Amino acid sequence: MKSKIHPNYFPHAAITCACGAKYEAGSTSEAIHVEICAACHPFYTGKQKLVDAARRVEKFQERATKSSSLKSTVSAQKEKKAERAKEKKKKEEEAVKKTKEALMAAKKMGHQKSDQ
Ligand SMILES: [Zn+2]
Repeated sequence: MKSKIHPNYFPHAAITCACGAKYEAGSTSEAIHVEICAACHPFYTGKQKLVDAARRVEKFQERATKSSSLKSTVSAQKEKKAERAKEKKKKEEEAVKKTKEALMAAKKMGHQKSDQ
């Protein structure tokens, strides 16, 4: 064996599982942490169990609720915007009507003047 090129070897490295089980094995790392082992894996236990070490399910549910609430606020904002646009259009139409009426009145006045 060539010297100074091999990593340290720990013949009794501790392997710890998330379920609490502990094993001993030879390794170049002194301590190893695993998320699943033979003591807790559904294949060995025969029980259906959700292994969610990375909180994937929880995170997905969080995102789902967030997006649904965001959607409702977005639709509410859209409704408000549409309402505002409607009001603006109404005001514009009224202004146009008023201008037309004023123009008509002015024309009439002009006609009356020209008649006299
Ligand atoms: Zn385990």
